Amino acid sequence: MLATALSASIVGVDGVPVRVEVDVAFGLPGLTIVGLAGSAVLEARERVRAALRNSGFEVPSRRITINLAPADLPKEGTGHDLAMAAGVLVASDQLDASRLARTALIGELALDGSLRPVPGVMALVSAAQAAGACDAIVPVENAAEGAVVQGIRVRGARALRQVTRHLAGLEQLIVEGTPRRDAEAPPDDAPDLASVVGHAVGRRTLEIAVAGRHNLAFTGPPGVGKTLLARSAAALLPLLDEREAAEVSRIHSVAGLSQPRASVSLRRPFRAPHHTISMQALVGGGPRIRPGEASLAHRGALFLDETLQFRADALDALRGPIDSGAVTIARVNGVLALPARFMLLAAFNPCPCGWFAVDGHECTCEDGMRRRYQARLSGPMRDRLDMIVFLAPISSFRRTGPPEDSSAVFARVVIAAERQAERQGSANADIPPGLLDDRTGFSAAVRAQLDTRARQLGLSMRRLHRAARVSRTIADLAGSTLVQAEHLDEALLHRPKEMRA
Ligand SMILES: [Zn+2]
Repeated sequence: MLATALSASIVGVDGVPVRVEVDVAFGLPGLTIVGLAGSAVLEARERVRAALRNSGFEVPSRRITINLAPADLPKEGTGHDLAMAAGVLVASDQLDASRLARTALIGELALDGSLRPVPGVMALVSAAQAAGACDAIVPVENAAEGAVVQGIRVRGARALRQVTRHLAGLEQLIVEGTPRRDAEAPPDDAPDLASVVGHAVGRRTLEIAVAGRHNLAFTGPPGVGKTLLARSAAALLPLLDEREAAEVSRIHSVAGLSQPRASVSLRRPFRAPHHTISMQALVGGGPRIRPGEASLAHRGALFLDETLQFRADALDALRGPIDSGAVTIARVNGVLALPARFMLLAAFNPCPCGWFAVDGHECTCEDGMRRRYQARLSGPMRDRLDMIVFLAPISSFRRTGPPEDSSAVFARVVIAAERQAERQGSANADIPPGLLDDRTGFSAAVRAQLDTRARQLGLSMRRLHRAARVSRTIADLAGSTLVQAEHLDEALLHRPKEMRA
């Protein structure tokens, strides 16, 4: 007899529905899985057999064939176990098929028949919903995460036996409630700007960068506060909208990151990988394609502390996502794009000793060494930064009152972000060059000024567009519909310049 159960698989960061077809026929006893199964799926054979036996079912001593369709889809992971086990039970008349039709079954089986959580449940349940399922049964640990998906009932189960009792109508698995939203609290590990003394320009440029999602680098001697300032961005980023939040949560779920409180957070991600990270971990990929830090920072910030210590190939690999908002990975059967639209925050010393061009200090580096160090921030990478700001040591503690705290800056950032969304439906950093005209507040006069300044300063087109976008954000923070000359001047002041090697 033939049985069909619905499951789902992850491709990149998306879920794809998978039909699990089970055929039990006369013939030499055995269990075969077909349909381009990865090694984990083949191991499922042993898990499914043991789980069935240890749950008190009979493993039919006939020829069992399991086909995972569509066949041309590479399937990875262990989430098909539950659907395979249920399919075997239906195909061998140990379970009634009626309830299987519109219920997706997702989860890994342990040998004793208990269910184990799997990564990417949000994407998997979404795929099941899109495929027409009304119900999804997932491991109980994943239930809250799955319940984020609208339009499908998600039920958590602990063991195969519980699932079969539910499918047979002997007990009801509880429908998980929609998780409550509690996203507004600032992230715990973000330093507050109230603890940053001085650095007026650093604070100002950080506010501009965060408000318009521009790429910003801080340079300066060790201990000057580059890291503290950059890290405080985590609490300054404007909130995500609902659609973006669902997208971000899905990516994090696929990466197997725990979902604290299982709610969809409206806070933008802030990722700060260590400089020893491999290229693959930074941009994603590998035999089993996993989102890298660039994708985990999607719609948020990617902070590279000690930027020039990162591997050159890793830094180079960021150029694609900075330009296109996605990481593209070539595969045997086509190209896969992982979303990776982040703002880049960089921080680095000006030279190996750290004191080059700092007033009152002497750089002890050899010229060649310093040049090689600075060359690590290659031209193309420097070209993709919007602002580079030198943070000088604070010489005096001349205070004009306590520093402003993060909540005050956040409030201004939120207003500026709303202006951008209303005007062009995207952050200023993402305005296409063709839209930098009257529609985004660039009058003919200001455009002429922009051209003149670009000629005087010898700016490339790319650099010119970046400066224009930054000036748009400065105008938004000032509450100005039109971009003015003063906004342009401030943006150009912080443009990346060649370092004085
Ligand atoms: Zn030095």
